[in-house]
Amino acid sequence: MRSFQVCQCGAPLQLNEKPTPKPAGTQVLLKVIAAGVCHSDLHIWDGYYELGGGKRLQLLDRGIKLPLTMGHENVGEVVAAGPDAKDVKIGARMLAHPWMGCGECAICKRGDEQLCKTPRNLGVFSDGGYSDFVMVPHPRYLFEIGDLDPARAAPLACSGITTFGALKKAGSIIKDEPVVIIGAGGLGLMCLALNTMMGNKGAILVDIDPVKRDAAKKAGALAVVDGNAADAAKQIVKLTDGGAWAVIDYVGSSKTVQLGVDSITKGGKVIVVGLFGGDITVSTPFFPLRAMAIQGSYVGSLPEMKELLALVRAKGLPPIPLTTRSLDEVGSALDDLRAGKVLGRVVLTPA
Ligand SMILES: [Zn+2]
Ligand SMILES: [Zn+2]
Repeated sequence: MRSFQVCQCGAPLQLNEKPTPKPAGTQVLLKVIAAGVCHSDLHIWDGYYELGGGKRLQLLDRGIKLPLTMGHENVGEVVAAGPDAKDVKIGARMLAHPWMGCGECAICKRGDEQLCKTPRNLGVFSDGGYSDFVMVPHPRYLFEIGDLDPARAAPLACSGITTFGALKKAGSIIKDEPVVIIGAGGLGLMCLALNTMMGNKGAILVDIDPVKRDAAKKAGALAVVDGNAADAAKQIVKLTDGGAWAVIDYVGSSKTVQLGVDSITKGGKVIVVGLFGGDITVSTPFFPLRAMAIQGSYVGSLPEMKELLALVRAKGLPPIPLTTRSLDEVGSALDDLRAGKVLGRVVLTPA
């Protein structure tokens, strides 16, 4: 098994080779066909999140152990299964839901494994898909993709479920009212595509990069706004006839969350997904007076993944820009992502 691993935070990934593991118990071994490169890998690799005001949240204090094989957007072919892994077909092509909890606690039993206090997330707390093989602890995390393109399906595991989870939090109001999406990178474009597939009203995209705004427009955005414009909030209020009911922020900087707060209508909601980092100050009377909400959204649940796949089977895969690269190019793929040179998604194809 060849795996590209983080051995030291921020240092180049190292290629480590070891014998391919054999699945035990309920484990299922996948041969990785496609592994999406996600922006959050940059934070895991660096080892921290910016909290604003120069403070950092250290990931090694949060239970992440090195060496770690990153990669949480994986599609693979089942090559072996443990004796207790029921109903697993050797040779089947599976999308692995990476947001795994302990599976035992009340939170997990309710279906919210992504909120479990002892997470086992693939590629974060356990070895992921920047490798030619990945071990999945239980078949319940596997979803057969049939003849869907593996490279296009892999991003559903993070980019897809994260944007789907955020859209679900916006509620049924976005059937009738436009949703505002801040950030027209990989997540923003995925969100735009899923919003369309769900049959919602439409989306207004905000980005500081004219190239990304253009891409959003071509992808069907109702309107685009320059996030750096001095009157960006005013533009959004105008475009939404008095303020947005739901703003989903895929950047998560001080400036973008503030823009969200300034752009919503009475009763509106800002959903923060991005981990860029920062902080804002909100006058507390505005929570009741504007009946506003600021809510975080972290990936999505197993039941939501099931729902997302049903949507994809009915409507096809979301058409997002995508480039594929070999597993050995993982380092340069991450560098390009950090440099902001990636439009849409890069997917590694180890097999
Ligand atoms: Zn991700
Ligand atoms: Zn749990």
